[in-house]
Amino acid sequence: MLFDKFQTMAGFQAELAERKVEPFGAVTEKILSATEGVVQGRNVILAGTNNYLGLSFDPRCIKAAQDAAARWGTGTTGSRLANGSFTEHQALETEIAQFYGKDHAIVFSTGYTATMGMCATLAGPGDVILLDADSHASIYTGVKLSGAEIIRYKHNNPEDLAKRLRRLGDRANQTLIIAEGIYSMLGDVAPLQEIAAVKREYGGYLFLDEAHSMGVLGETGRGAAQAAGVEADVDFFAGTFSKSLGAVGGFCVSSHPELEAIRFCISSYIFTASSSPSIIASTREALRIITAEPQLRERLWENANRLYDGLKSLGLPVGPSASPVVAVEMENRSRTIDCWKALMEAGVYVNLVIPPASPSTNFLLRNSVSAAHTSAQIDTIIAAYASLKTTGLITSTQAA
Ligand code: PMP
Repeated sequence: MLFDKFQTMAGFQAELAERKVEPFGAVTEKILSATEGVVQGRNVILAGTNNYLGLSFDPRCIKAAQDAAARWGTGTTGSRLANGSFTEHQALETEIAQFYGKDHAIVFSTGYTATMGMCATLAGPGDVILLDADSHASIYTGVKLSGAEIIRYKHNNPEDLAKRLRRLGDRANQTLIIAEGIYSMLGDVAPLQEIAAVKREYGGYLFLDEAHSMGVLGETGRGAAQAAGVEADVDFFAGTFSKSLGAVGGFCVSSHPELEAIRFCISSYIFTASSSPSIIASTREALRIITAEPQLRERLWENANRLYDGLKSLGLPVGPSASPVVAVEMENRSRTIDCWKALMEAGVYVNLVIPPASPSTNFLLRNSVSAAHTSAQIDTIIAAYASLKTTGLITSTQAA
C-alpha cells in the first residue's frame, strides 16, 4: 500500500497525542526577544534555536529588513536566473566572498538548497564522493541526486578517510571530500587539520559546510577551518544565513573560477525564487555586525562553557567538550519525551531529536546557546535539568 511506510510515524504521532505532548513543530505564539518566547501558552527560554549570536532580534538587522521591504517590495517573485537577481543579492555575494577572502560566491534561498545543490552538482556520474557518515540531510540528499559513487567515512575519522582514498588509487585526486565544521546534533568539531593533511597527501577537493561554525569559530568568525588554520585547503565553503546571521538563506564561496559556471548548473539555484530583499538586507547587516563585534562570539562561548560545565557537573552524558550545541544523549524514547515535557513545564524549550536526525540510534535533548542568553537564563536551563534528576526522570550516567 502506498501509505504503509507512514505507519510508524503515524503511530508515534498517536502516542504523542495520547501523552499530550507536542515536541515537533510546537507553535511559538509570540517572540519576546532572541531568547524568550511564548510557546504553547507558556513563557519559555528558547534553548534550542541556532540563533548563536542573537542577531534575529538585533534592531539594526530589523531596520535594514524594513527599509529594504519598503524600497524593493516583499519578494522578488522569480529565480536568480529569471527576474530575481537584484543588486542586493549581488552585493551580498560580493560581501560574503570578501568575508571569506575568496573571489566567488553564490547566494541561495536556504542553507539546505545551498548544500544540497552544491553536492548534487559538483560531482556527477563517474565521480566519487567521500562524505562523513554523520553528514546533514542536505548533504545526503545532494550526493544521492548527483549520481556519483558515494562512499562514507567514519564520523570525524581522518584515518578512515585516508584508508578509503588510498583504496581509490588514481581516482583519489578527483574525489569530492565532504565534511562539516561543527556537527549540528552533538556540537562536535571536525578534526580539520588532519582532514586537510589527508587531502594534501591524496588529493581531491574539500567541501566544508560551516553552517553551525560560521560566526561561532575562528578569529574573524569564518568558522572551523579558520580556527584550524586550514582555510587554504578548503575548495568550497558552504553555509547558511539562518543560524548566526539570524535570517534565512545559504551560500557557497570558492576561489575556483569554475564556481561561476557551476552556478548555472545547480537546479536548486535556477528553479527556485531568490530570497526576498528584506532577508538579504538583514543578512548583509548581520555579516557587518559579526565582523565588527567579535565580543558577540566571546559572549557566546562564555554561555557555551557555562551550560556545558553545568550539565556536565550534573553528571549528564554531554559529549567530550564545550560547544554552543550541548546535547544530552538518551537511550529511551519514552523517557526522552517525558523529559522534554518536564523541561517545557519548567520554562525551557529545547529540541527533542529522534533518529534518523540524531547521528546514532539514541535520542537527544539538544540544547543550544546564544550570545543573547543571560547567565541567569543559562542557570535556569541547568536548574531545569537538575530538577529532572531530582524527580528521577534522568539519572547521572544516563536516563535509561
Ligand atoms: N547544513 C547543516 C550542517 C545544517 O545543520 C543545516 C540546518 N540545520 C543546513 C545545512 C540547512 O540550513 P538551513 O536550515 O538554513 O536551510
